[in-house]
Amino acid sequence: MILKELISNLALLIASLFVYTQTTQAAPLSRSSTFKNKMVSGILAGVLSNVLMQYSMRFDSTIVDLRHIPVILVAYYGGTIPGIAAMCLVAVGRFLIGFNTSSLLALFLIVSITLITLTITRLSMSKRIKIFWTLTSSNVIFTIMIVYLLRNVSTLTFLIPSFWIISYSAGFISFYVIEFVRKSQNLLNKYKAEAATDGLTGLNNVRKFDQSFNEISAQAIHKDEKLSLLYIDIDHFKKVNDTYGHKEGDQVLIELSQILKNTVRSFDIVSRNGGEEFTVILLDCPTDRAKDISERIRTKVEGHSFLLTTGQVIHITVSIGLACYNETTIEPKLLIKEADLALYDAKQTGRNKVCITSSREWASHRA
Ligand code: GH3
Ligand code: MG
Ligand code: MG
Repeated sequence: MILKELISNLALLIASLFVYTQTTQAAPLSRSSTFKNKMVSGILAGVLSNVLMQYSMRFDSTIVDLRHIPVILVAYYGGTIPGIAAMCLVAVGRFLIGFNTSSLLALFLIVSITLITLTITRLSMSKRIKIFWTLTSSNVIFTIMIVYLLRNVSTLTFLIPSFWIISYSAGFISFYVIEFVRKSQNLLNKYKAEAATDGLTGLNNVRKFDQSFNEISAQAIHKDEKLSLLYIDIDHFKKVNDTYGHKEGDQVLIELSQILKNTVRSFDIVSRNGGEEFTVILLDCPTDRAKDISERIRTKVEGHSFLLTTGQVIHITVSIGLACYNETTIEPKLLIKEADLALYDAKQTGRNKVCITSSREWASHRA
């Protein structure tokens, strides 16, 4: 059964596309991809087309397969560079199989298909229409070529409709697979980011804080680095809510999160652990440095004019508890308790201040 070859072409194509789309999910091919990415995709598409040629239907010196589909795909998604790279490999591969009228026409076919795809993708129409016209044009050019080459009516009446059906199916299924895998990956990445982010402030949420804290603690032990943790809590925040309303309170939380982000170093980890409580994990940071950063946060907040949605301006203060692994605290896993305890001290001793825990104090609290 001669259709067997086209069907194996289809199966090979879909399987390869699936693997390719999965493995390039971090940097999917697009017109803005790097030159290297475009070249790699073009070469992979060319190789795949050559593999498809090995499963061709053969009619004397004429061979029929789906080699045009990978070329169309990379030209469609990546533009000229991968399109031309794949096209060249297809041409070379075809000439290696045999140099005759049929391979010269095959060269004409693949060049026209590549140029048509590159032109159609630049037109302003919907994705589906573009795909339809790209596939239709290549089927038309193929038909003209095959009629010229074979001229055997009984073969042509079977081959042409079969080719159209399989070429259309392969094309649409390929685009569908790519779009489906890309969409699923985007959604997955979006959900992953949302699962780690606090909806109000955009900071890390408590789940992400826990995860980061565990990873960073392990690193700090491994590298024998100092690691500081700040617990930050707004003073008398209930009063803000009671006076101006919950919505305005939210506005204050958003502004405070910006101050925190802008005051710490870019690689420090700022999270909203709940309500009006924030944390900052200060990587490779001794107590003195952490104290400076905490004071900077405290004074910035104290001096900041928080603008409410009503246009009113208010002022707030924060209390900060600090603990540092390898200095005040002997084990990273105690940092959370000790920073929280230091925050409690700050609240108890007047608020709007930074308190540092110490192993000694911690020991006496535990006693
Ligand atoms: P203290 O100085 O002792 O920390 O006083 P406080 O009023 O800040 O502390 P308390 O823990 O009693 O109150 C925290 C308040 O934070 C209570 C709650 O109304 C408010 N809050 C918690 N989460 C949110 C939130 O998402 N949005 C707003 N607007 N308020 C919140
Ligand atoms: Mg609180
Ligand atoms: Mg508070």
